[in-house]
Amino acid sequence: MRQDPAGRFRLFRTVKDLSFWHAACDYLCKPTRTAMKAAEIAELQNEPACVHNKKEKSGCVKAKPGATAGGCAFDGAQIALLPIADVAHIVHGPAACAGSSWDNRGARSSGPMLYRVGMTTDLTEQDVIMGRGEARLFHAIKQAIDDYAPAAVFLYATCVTALIGDDLEAVAAAASKRWGTPVVSVDCAGFYGTKNLGNRIAGEAMFRQVVGSREPDPVPESAQRPGITVHDVNLIGEYNIAGEFWQVAPLFDELGLRILCTLSGDARFREVQTMHRAEASMVVCAKALLNVARKLEEGYGVPFFEGSFYGISDTSQAFRDFARLLDDADLAARTERMIEREEMKIRAALAPWTARLEGRRALLYTGGVKSWSVVSALQDLGMTVVATGTKKSTEEDKQRIREIMGEDARMITDGSPGALLQAFKDTRADLLIAGGRNLYTALKARIPFLDINQEREFAYAGYRGMLELARQLALTLEAPVWAKVRAPAPWSAPQSICASATTVRAAGHG
Ligand code: SF4
Repeated sequence: MRQDPAGRFRLFRTVKDLSFWHAACDYLCKPTRTAMKAAEIAELQNEPACVHNKKEKSGCVKAKPGATAGGCAFDGAQIALLPIADVAHIVHGPAACAGSSWDNRGARSSGPMLYRVGMTTDLTEQDVIMGRGEARLFHAIKQAIDDYAPAAVFLYATCVTALIGDDLEAVAAAASKRWGTPVVSVDCAGFYGTKNLGNRIAGEAMFRQVVGSREPDPVPESAQRPGITVHDVNLIGEYNIAGEFWQVAPLFDELGLRILCTLSGDARFREVQTMHRAEASMVVCAKALLNVARKLEEGYGVPFFEGSFYGISDTSQAFRDFARLLDDADLAARTERMIEREEMKIRAALAPWTARLEGRRALLYTGGVKSWSVVSALQDLGMTVVATGTKKSTEEDKQRIREIMGEDARMITDGSPGALLQAFKDTRADLLIAGGRNLYTALKARIPFLDINQEREFAYAGYRGMLELARQLALTLEAPVWAKVRAPAPWSAPQSICASATTVRAAGHG
């Protein structure tokens, strides 16, 4: 199924081209590969670079019943790769799987918009009974290539197609050979596990099938400056939500850091192919694609660090870490000068906002790297973070929280509406900062709420992002709606209503 420019979804149903059947025959003569093996899943769950593995493995190893309620492995794989903008992303399975994750992250592209076309083979019961799944997939790939000429086609497995044993890897190989366009299979059936596992499966597919398949273009002359060495770097787990990375990118250009690839915000397929040639990587979301960073280090000697672009101090630290890993004294000196200038500029711009936010108490419920990086950003604004959610945080994330908030930092793991509201009350918070799924919990409780997760519409990254964050926080806290909705409803004051009704009647008779 695909979405046309008018927003309607169309189905890939008919097979008219004989060349398609030739390709299908090529494929059917090959031995098939079954779905991902348990050992491969276990290897991804036991990510050695994950801090859980230095202590106890239970945090990573096995999904507990209900764990996929926050998104299945397919969902995780798709949201990790969907921002690669010039790729045709085909979901092989029932249409509902595609609907559950398509476009759920506000990643922006500065060029191609193909990633926003939802494509699925839309398998039905009849396709399953008649064994037509792989044939439908071949045809879907052909149609995507004919209609959109994508840089590559990514195929995503779902529960149904994994259960019926469709061999995406073989289909991808045959289709790639037949039509000359790279076709990448992502074996990410939803039942394999959690969204986080799906992120890693996606990373694994990129590392095994895409990274290393092309050399980077030479540095353009326009980017060369006398006395400045241009260094190539990667950003891993940065999704350009609401276009926020565009606020940071000019600083990379200024310092002579060429971003070979951002996996995957505003990325192109040809950029992912060259990630192995970077001199350093920054892992922006530690939980999502840490395996890619580790394998780049082990396989190609690309060192990495974990960092964040939320908050003034963390943004500065990220640039310092690049200079440190790249071991370039001139870059380090220029980085310090840039940091001094940007910090001075942003602190002056923030002054009127911090005066309004000083001392306000925030309850933060988000996951992963944001559990500490947003704490630091809020503290930069003079706010007090009374508690932070750590359900999706690694041990290292928790350690950073303790460093920033102190040993007594209150960490929340229960994100149920009741528990969150109780914590809000206990901590006497002024505002809840969380993901979109907590929006209605907050609105029903009539408490100020700011969306910080992937559905957010505002760009909070980098120095400039701090200004937007401060503005949104102040507008949220000071919105007149809170006083109005907390006041007694008109119908809960029957005396005054009766009195005014009598007045109206009396006026009418007069
Ligand atoms: S892949 Fe499986 S768990 Fe995920 S949305 Fe589809 S059917 Fe549901």
